[in-house]
Amino acid sequence: MPKRVLSLRLLVHRWAHGRAKAATRLIGNYPFFAGLSGTLVATVMAILTYAALYEGRAEELRHAQENSRNLVQLISNDIARNVEIYDLSLQAVVQAAQQPQTWSMPEALRQRVLFDRATAASRLGGAYVIDATGHVIASHSNAFDVSPAGISFADRDYFIAQQRDPHAGLFFSKPFHSRLRGGALTIGLTRRINAPDGSFAGVALLGVRLDYLEQLLEHIDLGPGGHLFILMRDGTLLASKPPSMRGAGWSYADLPNFAFFSRRDAGTYTSHSAIDGVERIYTFAHVGNSPFIVVVAPAVGDVLAGWRRRSYIALVMTTVFGGAWVAVSWMLAFALRDKVVAEGKLVRLAVTDPLTGLANRRALDSRLAEEWHHAVRERTPLSVLFFDIDHFKLFNDTYGHAAGDEVLVFVAGRIAAGSRRATDLAARFGGEEFAVVLPGTALDAATSMAEKIRKRIESDNLTLSGTHHGCVTVSAGCASCNPPEGGSGAKLLAAADRLLYEAKEAGRNQVRSQQCTGDGAQPLVDSEAGSRGRDAPATRG
Ligand code: GH3
Ligand code: MG
Ligand code: MG
Repeated sequence: MPKRVLSLRLLVHRWAHGRAKAATRLIGNYPFFAGLSGTLVATVMAILTYAALYEGRAEELRHAQENSRNLVQLISNDIARNVEIYDLSLQAVVQAAQQPQTWSMPEALRQRVLFDRATAASRLGGAYVIDATGHVIASHSNAFDVSPAGISFADRDYFIAQQRDPHAGLFFSKPFHSRLRGGALTIGLTRRINAPDGSFAGVALLGVRLDYLEQLLEHIDLGPGGHLFILMRDGTLLASKPPSMRGAGWSYADLPNFAFFSRRDAGTYTSHSAIDGVERIYTFAHVGNSPFIVVVAPAVGDVLAGWRRRSYIALVMTTVFGGAWVAVSWMLAFALRDKVVAEGKLVRLAVTDPLTGLANRRALDSRLAEEWHHAVRERTPLSVLFFDIDHFKLFNDTYGHAAGDEVLVFVAGRIAAGSRRATDLAARFGGEEFAVVLPGTALDAATSMAEKIRKRIESDNLTLSGTHHGCVTVSAGCASCNPPEGGSGAKLLAAADRLLYEAKEAGRNQVRSQQCTGDGAQPLVDSEAGSRGRDAPATRG
């Protein structure tokens, strides 16, 4: 493999590794981030699923409405076409009946002249010519239960309407029980027959049995909860599927839904039935030039049945997988947090002195080196304090090591309390020796800090018999400088140690301080001073 490709791969690998580490740290530091982002992803997925399902539901309803509109259109067209045929038949009967010759023809011929064009239509319920007194004077029907002779139809609405109004045109009666066909529910379509002088001479009647309309609806399947019906504009029910409770011929004008049908020529709306409470999508249309209204109303439950089944599966899947995803992301988040916390603990342990809780020697060395470089770069002062407990061996010998440890912890606390700035670092150098790194602190401030700490420990008055002061005291060396190029933090610490040695020599319980320079004679760059070697102080022992 070419070298360049190899190094590119290496780069990509390193980059990916770096990203992965950063992500792990981020998630570890903010476990809620991973949990929340997992929850967010699952929530977004769930919302998208719900949105898709909701859209699917709307689509199903739209589809059902479209189907209903088509169905209404088909039924309306069928009825309108039949009404047109009936009307043409009636017009032919009227035309023939108004010819005086018709009535002087032999009966067989007269029948043909009157009803030839009404043959198809008359199958539905008979075609009749009724005279001005309301009696049938000619008829074309397949079968009568009762002979029309002698029966008057002058009380029928279709008769009265034509009698009263010469311009009634095509009249649709209300459903009535046929007097000739054993009470079969029928509606009558009539046209007026005029005498040559224009006076009322009778009506041409076409009876349409309502079961024709029932048959029209019979083969349409709208599902178990679907309703189909044909009404008149005044609310009279002509036919329905399934058969209505009130039955054909009864008025439904009192039902709230009827208000919708009567108000507009066509439309669609969703509503609960006042009769059975089922929610349906009502699609209706007024049929052309007839008084009929066709209504197709599938139940919402039937329309959405398939969608509900599919949605149920999708919802269960989304909930199960989404829930699992959320649970896994939170588990991962907390596992990573525990890992990062444990790592953090280890890191802290590695740089902490277990007895006093201060930074340990390793942390001191690296921080001192860092601060030295920082001070060189920024040209800021850097100071180091070096503390040693006086006569500590005597304390141990007198009060025991356990008490000695307590004093160590106590003194460490005082030193930490005395160097509180965020950039200050108090460390246990070893044994009963402590060092404090004070970045950005000049000699005066550093000396007064050391002095304050010393005084505070002395004023705590922890008894140490057998010494000049009679209590626990500390000596301190304070070295400060504006770091010259070429020196090191370790040399500054060695200078502080040398000053501490001087403080011990001078009688203990005191601070010795000095401004160091980069001069070769000074301890920083090339140290000769200090009693414990050239680079770093050694634990006094
Ligand atoms: P000086 O005033 O010159 O510093 O005298 P000193 O006795 O303090 O000095 P020296 O170096 O002779 O004694 C240091 C003692 O500190 C020796 C040791 O018993 C004690 N020491 C060091 N580390 C610990 C510790 O972790 N716990 C306890 N209790 N004592 C310690
Ligand atoms: Mg000591
Ligand atoms: Mg010592």
